[in-house]
Amino acid sequence: MTIKKVLLLGDQGLRKQSAPVENWGSPLQKIKIDLADTLGFLQEKYGLGRALAAPQIGCLQQAIYYNSGQEQIFMINPCIIEKSRDKFPVWDSCYSFKVAFFVRVFRHRRIKVRYWDELGQEKETEFTDDLAELFQHEIDHLQGCLATDYLEDNKEIIMREEWEKLKKD
Ligand SMILES: [Zn+2]
Repeated sequence: MTIKKVLLLGDQGLRKQSAPVENWGSPLQKIKIDLADTLGFLQEKYGLGRALAAPQIGCLQQAIYYNSGQEQIFMINPCIIEKSRDKFPVWDSCYSFKVAFFVRVFRHRRIKVRYWDELGQEKETEFTDDLAELFQHEIDHLQGCLATDYLEDNKEIIMREEWEKLKKD
């Protein structure tokens, strides 16, 4: 088990562009294991969250690990090749914010992503609703972009405790 330190909002490492993965060898396996182990730790710690991007653990490579409990996706060199015109509002947070607060942002309701899996197979997958917004968030990390960058109204930022109340309504 390798639990990596997660870079936090303000760390310039989160603002860098990640490089495409070019070598499908053992360093990529190491990234996958580090992301999977660290994500598992964070899910337990915060009780929330489904994915982690490599730059969040200080690795500037275009890789994302998703684990819903039922399904795992290791996404390499992802690129959004289609997006719906339709957008919807979401309360978004991030492990790099320690899931301490949420920002209300608009995301495309449907996206099509081209990526490569760990075997080097090219894939094209369409995601809608919660998975669409999730992968928009994660792919942004690879470009050094964070959810707070989308804050259109500076009053649309709330602490997790207040967000929990919204969920109950
Ligand atoms: Zn994030």
